[in-house]
Amino acid sequence: MNNTLRIALIPCLGVLLAGCNQHSWHKGNTHTHTYWSDGDAAPDQIVAWYVDHDYDFLVLSDHNIMQEGERWHPIRETGSLPLKQEHVDQIEERFGPGWVEVRERDGVREMRLKDLEELQAFCAAEGMTLIPGEEVTDRWKKHEVHINAINNKGLIPPQRGDSVQDTIQRNLDAIIANGREYNRPVMAHINHPNYVWSLTADNLADIHGEHFFEVYNGHRSVNNHGDDTHPSTDEMWDEALVKRLAHGAGDGETLYALATDDAHNHHGTNLQSIPGRGWVMVRAATCTPEDLIPAMKRGDFYASSGVELEDITSNGRTIRLKIIQQPDATYTTEFIGVRKTDDGWTSPAVLQTATGTSASYRFVGDELYVRPRVTSSLTHPRPYQEGDLQMAWGQPQQPAGAR
Ligand SMILES: [Zn+2]
Ligand SMILES: [Zn+2]
Repeated sequence: MNNTLRIALIPCLGVLLAGCNQHSWHKGNTHTHTYWSDGDAAPDQIVAWYVDHDYDFLVLSDHNIMQEGERWHPIRETGSLPLKQEHVDQIEERFGPGWVEVRERDGVREMRLKDLEELQAFCAAEGMTLIPGEEVTDRWKKHEVHINAINNKGLIPPQRGDSVQDTIQRNLDAIIANGREYNRPVMAHINHPNYVWSLTADNLADIHGEHFFEVYNGHRSVNNHGDDTHPSTDEMWDEALVKRLAHGAGDGETLYALATDDAHNHHGTNLQSIPGRGWVMVRAATCTPEDLIPAMKRGDFYASSGVELEDITSNGRTIRLKIIQQPDATYTTEFIGVRKTDDGWTSPAVLQTATGTSASYRFVGDELYVRPRVTSSLTHPRPYQEGDLQMAWGQPQQPAGAR
């Protein structure tokens, strides 16, 4: 049995054998920046936003730094990444007296940034899991290669490579090695492939050992939708899937997609990259990295920019999903896939469309893969691009007996 089929069958067998239906969905964002790198707010203020908006888990992914050690940020009304007195007052009000630490150095007042351990303690008390992370930020020539490490222990420096692909793979390998070294679940996702048109579908196709990327990133400069000469990230996903699953590119395994915020702007004045745009819903026994990361590696999660699913399953014969109705919304589910022809494979296309809150796709048996994508009639309240509709992206599934 191949891996993808095994993945497709796990949720079904799990329900039958292990009470998998007791697993619940956990909402999380795996990509957000703070004052520890180029985010415009203090980390405690940011984690509080996610706590207050009912996230179950969060990853702070600063560029090439972990939130470790002692770090102070100047309190100033202007300049780069200003920490205004009103923000300090907001933090004090949210966290209570004694939380904020201020000192004066050379005539400049500074506030100490809370470190990962302090932030984790606060989140745990508030019922949200804060998972360590880092945006390993590398480049090759003009190509930005940004890869998030999730639940890594300690800093992973950018690895530098001889080509775009080599740079990607070296960083993936370093992240995988971190998990092995510390014997903990660690995963990596490739970020915003269309940011300054850095990566192609071939780059996504050719990766080994890890298989996650951002189909939706909330930062407005990342070109999720492509342009006249570049495919959208959604189209790149299909192209990479065909190369991997049909032609054995990379390690030949599937490719899973996430939606993330990549939030840098936390005060609502600059809308370039605000929190609350994209997230993942992961089905796992507990909201800990020990359960969340294996669940994601099994593909038991979906990406969302607003549409919420009650259930999504595939048993290799049928993909079924049930959408949670939001007031006044109507839903269209597209099953996108590729089928076998006499001399190869069709181009990726919508194989079937359904409306309503229940949708299912019955495999014919000759599909390379099928992935459901749901679009709501409701616009996104905090859109990446004005007019964007709320969506959900299910992971690719294969029919029983494929390959
Ligand atoms: Zn980035
Ligand atoms: Zn980022």
